[in-house]
Amino acid sequence: MNIDFKMCMDAKIRFEGIYTKELLCTLRSRVEDMRNQIHLLSAFALFLLITYLFAAEYVPSKQFVINLVVMLVCAVLPDILEPPTSRWHRAFFHSKRCLKCVLVLAIVGWAIGMQSKNYTLLFAAFGYLVHLLEDATTKAGLPR
Ligand SMILES: [Zn+2]
Repeated sequence: MNIDFKMCMDAKIRFEGIYTKELLCTLRSRVEDMRNQIHLLSAFALFLLITYLFAAEYVPSKQFVINLVVMLVCAVLPDILEPPTSRWHRAFFHSKRCLKCVLVLAIVGWAIGMQSKNYTLLFAAFGYLVHLLEDATTKAGLPR
């Protein structure tokens, strides 16, 4: 009788442990989904703002669509390269060194745009920067 009760309690604790773990995993993946949606949403908002301010004449064009898609892909690219599987997933592609490289790319993209009117590289850099700057505001921050 006593052993049965102990076995039941062990099973209950084991079940609750698994249940809690699954619940935490579900919650964590929901939070990560939300974070990706925030990256996409803010990249989209920034894209519209830049286009409205500097390139309103390009709005219904092929280049407009290409730049938008490239910027949105780059806004989630760091998490594709380094999937957020743990708290310590952030490595080079989320680092401050990478941020500096992307800033250089943005300047190069701006220079290319001034020459050829093709700002795709600049928008790609902006998308990536949005992701890194938003991740920098989290508790974990960006590694060196
Ligand atoms: Zn990230």
